[in-house]
Formats: sequence, structure tokens, C-alpha cells
Amino acid sequence: MFYDLHIHSGLSPCADDDMSPQNIIQMAKIKGLDLISICDHNSLRQQAICAKVAKQHHLNYLYGVEIQTKEEVHVLAYFRDEADLPEMQAWLSHVQMKVMNRSNFFGHQYLYDKEDNIIEEEKLALIFSLNASLEETLDKIHTHHGLAVLAHIYGRKNGIMTQLGFIPKGLPIDGVELVHEEEIDRFLKEYPTYVDLPCFVNSDAHTLSDIHEASLALTPGAQKRFWAK
Ligand SMILES: [Zn+2]
Ligand SMILES: [Zn+2]
Repeated sequence: MFYDLHIHSGLSPCADDDMSPQNIIQMAKIKGLDLISICDHNSLRQQAICAKVAKQHHLNYLYGVEIQTKEEVHVLAYFRDEADLPEMQAWLSHVQMKVMNRSNFFGHQYLYDKEDNIIEEEKLALIFSLNASLEETLDKIHTHHGLAVLAHIYGRKNGIMTQLGFIPKGLPIDGVELVHEEEIDRFLKEYPTYVDLPCFVNSDAHTLSDIHEASLALTPGAQKRFWAK
């Protein structure tokens, strides 16, 4: 399965406003992907519509969110069952900083319907860290039957290596995300005990053109853990 499991919609302030569900999913189809996940910053509120649109276009969809912890570490959380989303969203809202978004400064936070009409703008800023530690975040993800992947561990700011410098021993993670395929070797050299851990290389697309081409397929291990029902 060709995948891209880290794409931002226009709900993320830093993403283009034309990153709407129909646009993203139709682009993913054009690129030949089989499985995608749209992961906005600290919010699952666009997920149900994204899944509906993906279904309409016969594209496999994994529910997702990119959480920023108190340590400013980005963690991708994936869910296979929509029934787990309301409680997870309630927790995200609970630990979110109650600061209004300044759209002229941070960007718009649009919510779309399944025809790509903007139906609402999220008022609270999604750009800030949640009032939750990395450990607490991983615990909540697992409590709600999700899978936790450390985002862009080496490549960008807010990866665990730039924030903490290392992966704490015994951290309960289900995968890691690398920015480049070549970083997989580096990761396995530094953390040989994680030899069976799924490694993902996603686009982290904030614009339509950045969505990945169909070049990376899930390994059998990753497919079993993240997709098999
Ligand atoms: Zn990130
Ligand atoms: Zn991202």
C-alpha cells in the first residue's frame, strides 16, 4: 500500500487554505496513493469529513492528529475506529491553551464540509503546545486505542531529537517518522532495539503539491499494525 500518513488540512493554521478534504483526497488519488491520513495540529475536528470524502473516492483513510506536547515534541496519533475520536478530542480540548487564534498572524483554521465549503473557523489557536507531557500524551493515545508515532524525529523542529536529544528508554511508541528514507538506517544504528518498529516517511504536506507520490509502500509489519482490521 502506497501511503502518506501526515498531511495537513486547512484546519492547521500553517497549511494552505485550499488544503480542503476534496482537494487533498483527489490529489492523493492522482498521485496513486492507497492510504492517507490527514493530521492537523492538536485537533481531530476535521476527521469525520475527511474519512467520508476518502470513502467517496475509494481511498483508504486512517484517522490522525499531530499533537504538540508540553516538551514541544510532535507526536502523530492514529485511530482506526471513529468511535474513539470524541473522547480523544474532549481530552485535546481539555489540555489545549485557551488562547484565541490570530488568523492574520498564524493563518486561518478552517473547517470544511464534504463539498469543500468552509463551514466554520476554529477560534482557539491550535499552534501552541498542549498542557500535557509526552508521557501523558502517549498514555491517552493508547487509552483511546490509538497508535503513537514520533513525528519527524531528526529532520524538522519539534522532533524528539531536536527537543530532547534522545528517545527515552522504554518509551511506549508504535512507530517513528523520518523526513528522508536514508534516515531509517541512521535510526536503526542508533536504536538497534527498535529493529521491528515501523518507520514511516511522510510528506508533512502543507500544500497540495507536497503530497507524496506513490513511491513508499507500508512494510508488512507496519501494515499489520496500523491497517489490518
Ligand atoms: Zn510536526
Ligand atoms: Zn505536521
